[in-house]
Amino acid sequence: MAIDPNFEENRDQEGQEHDVDVWGPTDPPEELGIRGTHVAVDFDICIADGACLEDCPVDVFEWVDTPDHPESEIKANPTQEDQCIDCMLCVDVCPVDAVDVDPGRAGRI
Ligand code: SF4
Repeated sequence: MAIDPNFEENRDQEGQEHDVDVWGPTDPPEELGIRGTHVAVDFDICIADGACLEDCPVDVFEWVDTPDHPESEIKANPTQEDQCIDCMLCVDVCPVDAVDVDPGRAGRI
């Protein structure tokens, strides 16, 4: 299952965590939702492969601890999504299709 590219229509924003938008539903620690808007990561799919962190040319992602999540205990959080240059590398390299980038989504202001 890949991240839903239409999450803005299909989910409700539940605020922010670590300065990143949170799109529910959430029920921590097992269900964490989608994080970010312009650069969005489905935390419930992310397996902490790390390819996005390694390949992003402008260091949009940083690890955040997610203890007791069933897929992985760290996640790639798009904390610097405002720096994104829309190269789509992270989308291409993610082995579980947990990342979606849409230049048309504004993200946090
Ligand atoms: S699209 Fe490119 S610049 Fe934007 S977060 Fe992904 S790897 Fe980084």
